[in-house]
This record gives sequence, structure tokens and C-alpha cells, in this order.
Amino acid sequence: MASSKKSTQARKKSSSSDSRSSTPSKTKKDASRKNGVAAKSKSGQGVSRLTSLISSEPSFFRTVERYFDRAADHADFPTGILNQIRACNSVYMIRFPVRIKNDVKVFTGWRVQHSHHRLPTKGGIRFADHVTQDEVMALAAQMTYKCAIVNVPFGGAKGGVQVDAKKYDLDVVERVTRRYTMEMIKRNCIGPGIDVPAPDYGTGQREMAWIADTYQAVSPGQMDALACVTGKPVSQGGIRGRHSATGRGLFFAVREALATEKNAKLFGMEPGLEGKRVIIQGLGNVGYWAAKNLQDGGTEIIGIAEYEGGIYDKNGLDVEEVFQHRNETGSILNFKQAKNVKQRNKLLEYDCDILVPAALENQINSGNASRIKAKMIAEGANGPVSANAEEVLLKRGIHMLPDIYANAGGVTASYFEWLKNIAHVRFGRIGKRHEEGTNKRIVNMIEQVTGHSLSPSDRALFIHGADEDDYVDSGLEETMITAYYEIVDAYRSNSKVKDLRTAAFLVSIDKIGTSYMELGIFP
Ligand code: GLU
Repeated sequence: MASSKKSTQARKKSSSSDSRSSTPSKTKKDASRKNGVAAKSKSGQGVSRLTSLISSEPSFFRTVERYFDRAADHADFPTGILNQIRACNSVYMIRFPVRIKNDVKVFTGWRVQHSHHRLPTKGGIRFADHVTQDEVMALAAQMTYKCAIVNVPFGGAKGGVQVDAKKYDLDVVERVTRRYTMEMIKRNCIGPGIDVPAPDYGTGQREMAWIADTYQAVSPGQMDALACVTGKPVSQGGIRGRHSATGRGLFFAVREALATEKNAKLFGMEPGLEGKRVIIQGLGNVGYWAAKNLQDGGTEIIGIAEYEGGIYDKNGLDVEEVFQHRNETGSILNFKQAKNVKQRNKLLEYDCDILVPAALENQINSGNASRIKAKMIAEGANGPVSANAEEVLLKRGIHMLPDIYANAGGVTASYFEWLKNIAHVRFGRIGKRHEEGTNKRIVNMIEQVTGHSLSPSDRALFIHGADEDDYVDSGLEETMITAYYEIVDAYRSNSKVKDLRTAAFLVSIDKIGTSYMELGIFP
């Protein structure tokens, strides 16, 4: 154990002062506006800093640093290497103009590259009017640890633009997206081998297609240009299964965590998914697919919370029907015989086996942690449980499947999309028919030898050759299961590691630290 208390203190001292710095002065803001250039700025932290002060929660970035420090105490690397893993390498703050009708509005955005130990760096882009620099830094750091946990060979990054896209016409959202992309291109912080964005809160396939198009437009002849962004529509170089991958990955994580008596014991549950009662917060991309997969896997979805409130039915809700109901009425409330829970976060406190917060950060905090009754919290969102809440929950014996593992399915499928783009071929395209021919010969022979004919559906199932979605699903399942046991091994083999988040951080610190030790420090 090379890193002692002393090294933790050293790290704390050198801890990114950014998360504690104040909002920049007017002069600095004015200067960057006047010059129209990106600056390494500490701007945008005012809101999250204020929120932290009011709620006595550390800022999101500070929270991630705290988790890092807790795990680093069990890691065997020199302090300087640990400091380097923990630091945010580049923080770009960008202000850019966008024409809206007859006026111009200046938008603020960030791209943060947390770690360059592997390239490209990778991470989504968040569009929300409440995005702050602290948040983007925290999310970028989490991407580093997330990629390491699931063996995706990328560094971590994240982007954000302060924009509530719902308030604007589509053409404005398109101009914001394209101009933000252009600002990244100008700074050489986007590209297949540099930094590869993806969707996050407030963005999706549509925005990713605009980013790809903008990048391609100014990169003539660059054959790998499409790999500059993932989460694109399938028709534009996206990959089948990416859209549902975060929720599907969370399902694999929960399923594995309850797969055996030994695994399930940590959560105080019997093994298996059958009949487990689940409450989901957020019916967006992550929540919807997590809920659907968990329902298909045999659990009962007894509660769903959304922005407008929650619905509860102890006999189970049909996820697809709730989704349709929301599309038709604009709200999940008043769904069949389900009970309306007007205060949306109240539902998090209802009795259930598995709670899946799949909306935004800080949803389980010091205000409600003592009232949470779930036996397992599977973190679909990034940072849904605050640092203070985590302490309370662990004391109460409630364990979490941490976000840096539980929602890593998205970036895993993004990695497959990136591979597809640089290979310029769809997985399965070359081998599928050959595989089917072989399978057909085997099935024919078995039928001949046994004198038994398979039903047409069984026959089709046996013969089917793997296609793109099969490969993505298989790769995702393999990734989530392997990562689960890496985390659990770290947890079980170190009696001082008391929870899965610390174990997950420890696993990633070990991988990233090894990478720095082997590569050396340039020059
Ligand atoms: N935004 C997603 C995340 O937080 C996906 C990132 C990616 O695919 O690069 O994991």
C-alpha cells in the first residue's frame, strides 16, 4: 500500500482548485467575449457551488474526487501518478454566437478531457440550461473511470452547452449544435483519434448526425471522419443496439448482481429477478430501456417517476403502455388504476427491492437518504446519489451498483460503433451467411440421424447467423458480466473496501495507473 494518509492529503491539496474557485470576474468574461476565443476558464461553477453550499453537499466534481481518494488509499501507486489520474487534463470553456431570428444569442459550452492515458477521449454532450463547468468536469472524470471499468480503451471526456433545447425551434438547436462542433474542431478537440462525443442528457441521434455532418464537411478526404462521434442514427453510421445499450447494460448488471446466492446476499435478497419489485425514476432513454429489460427479465415495475410526478401500482405497471400513455397525454399521471404520486421524488422512498434512479444527479441526497427503503440502488443516471446520501445508505446496509459501472453500457456500445466506423463494415456482414450455411448443414445432419424434424421456428433459431444487433448484445453482456466480477473481486479480496463504488474506482485506478507506469511520463 504505497499510498498512505500523507499521499491522500497531498492529493487533496493539489486537488483541482477549479471545483472551489469562484465565478470569474466580469472583466474576464468580457475579455473572452471580446476575443471570441475559448479560454481555460473556471466560469460556470457559481450555480453548482451555490447549490453545494446550500445543501451542504460537496460539488459533483468534488464528490467524484472524494470517491477517487477513498479508493486510492487502497491502490499501490506513487502519489504523483494518483494525482495525475485524478486531475482534469483539459477544460475548454467556449462562448459562441448563434443567430436567432433578427438577433444573436451568445451560448456558453464546455468540453472537458479528463484523461489522455488512452486515446481518443470519449464522452457525451449534455444540453441543459443548468449545465455547469463543475458538472461537466465531474462527468468527464467519471467517463475515465467508466471506460476503464468496462475495458473500453478510451480516456474520459464530457461536453455541455447551457441551452434548454425545448425552448427553441429546431433550426436554432441545429445551429447551436453545429457551431459548438465547429468550436471544437477549431481547437482540435474532436476527431476519431482525438475526442469522440456521444449523446447525453438533452441530446440524441439527431444532434449526433449534425455533429458528424459538420465534422465531415470540413474534413475532406478523411476516411474515418464518421468515427468522430457515436450514437448516430443507424442510417448514418450508427450501430444497432446503441440506443438501448445503457438501459440494457443496467439490466445485465442487476441480473448479474442477483445471479447467485452469494451475489444476492450483499443486497439482502434471494437470487433471481423473478418477482423483484422495481421503482424507476426517469422514463427517458436509460430509464425506459432499463425498465423494459427488467420487466422482460421477470421483475415487477411497481413505480415510475417522471418530471410531472409518479405512478404506483403494487401489482405492476406495463412499461410500454405507460410510455404510450405519456406520449398520448403528455404525462405519466392518471395511468389506468395506478395511484398518482404528485411529489415526484416521494416515489423514491416507497418500499421496493430495486430502485433505479435514471434521471439526473443528486436525486437521493441527505434530505431523503434515511427514508429510502430499497435493498439495491442501480444507478442509471450519473451521480444520482450524493456523497452524503451514500454514507447514510451504506450505514443502513443499502448497497449501490455504482453509475460508473451500472450505466457503462452506453459507452460500451459507442466503442462498438467507433470500431464499426473505422472498419467501414457492419459486424456480421461478412460472416453471417457462411455461419448460417454451416448451421444449416449441422441441423440437417441432426434431423437425418435422429429422424426428428425441428419446428420451423426452432429451425430458424438454430440456423440464424449473428448479425450486428446480436454482436452488440453479446459484446455488451460479456462486458457487463466481466466488469461485475472484476469489481466484486476487488470488493471481496480487500476487507477495507466496504462498498462496490470504492471497489469499482479501485479497479479503474489500477488499470489507469498501470497504463501510466508502463507508458512512462513524457518527456
Ligand atoms: N453519455 C453516456 C455516458 O454518460 C455515453 C457516453 C458515450 O457513449 O461516449 O456514459
